[in-house]
Amino acid sequence: MEIVLASNNIPIDLNNIFISHDNPLEYIDYAHQSVLPRNLCNWIKGLYSVAIRDRSVDEIISVVSGDCSNTHALTELYEENNITVHRFSYPSSKTNLYNELKTEITNLAAAFSLTLKDVQEYSKITDIVRAKLKKIDQLTIDNKVTGFENHLWLVSSTDFCSDLEKFSKNIDEFIKVAEDREPMDSTVRLAFIGVPPIIPNIYNLIEKKSCKVVFNEVQRQFTIPSEAEDFVQRYIDYTYPYTIWDRINDIKEQIKLRKVDGIIHYVQSFCYRQIQDIVIRKHIDNMPILTIEGDKPLDIDNRTIIRIDSFIEMLHDKKAGKVR
Ligand code: SF4
Repeated sequence: MEIVLASNNIPIDLNNIFISHDNPLEYIDYAHQSVLPRNLCNWIKGLYSVAIRDRSVDEIISVVSGDCSNTHALTELYEENNITVHRFSYPSSKTNLYNELKTEITNLAAAFSLTLKDVQEYSKITDIVRAKLKKIDQLTIDNKVTGFENHLWLVSSTDFCSDLEKFSKNIDEFIKVAEDREPMDSTVRLAFIGVPPIIPNIYNLIEKKSCKVVFNEVQRQFTIPSEAEDFVQRYIDYTYPYTIWDRINDIKEQIKLRKVDGIIHYVQSFCYRQIQDIVIRKHIDNMPILTIEGDKPLDIDNRTIIRIDSFIEMLHDKKAGKVR
């Protein structure tokens, strides 16, 4: 983000355009008409159509390692359609991680005629906004911000809604409103882990039942919560692109801090990250976990609604000492 902004470009997260569209299913239909496989994650179909059908952006920074296993081929499709792409890789090596990441960031900055120093300097501006997002996260812990509001603000940090100044002002207004609220009534506190859901109205369903999402794992990571002095180090502390154990350590720390009673693990249909559910369940074995799967940006299916209902009911009973 600092590279895009410091070079006077406008950041646009293709995911955000796709999911906030009045009818995101249009994008999925277009991808199918372009003969993208049906058994492909729908986020990928959305990204493809936003970039290729709508030509929403002039150039793309494509994270070809550390984000999504489909991005390699998707990047080739962008190029095949004459879109300029800048490839960026989060290194997988543990031994030389710092230097490799520093080289990646320096090379990307150079592609926009910047040095790493310029980028680090610009981060003093984005730091102010990132601190405000932290405030929203704290207000969520304090029961003054809903899980959905938390999701929306934190996930928007991937492009600051394409206007950093306006975004920053809007946060100030929101914080003022949230601070004046009475804390919400909820007995059960939930963590929401995994990729951001393609069905955002899932939060309304959950939070209607006297329980509250107090932790959105990946959305919080998207805000780059690390406050390390060193700019490169912040992107090493960012858990999402690295191993599942980095994520698990962060989840364990946060669920303890936020006094979480149960975890909803959201997985996306046809996403390789679904496999990680096995490791998550093995290493976070002291807490009830419900894994739910989403596919299209539609209302939640009845089977998932029943599973969420039963899970929350069980957590209420557990909290009331009715079950162990
Ligand atoms: S949900 Fe999984 S498969 Fe889909 S874009 Fe995200 S990482 Fe890729």
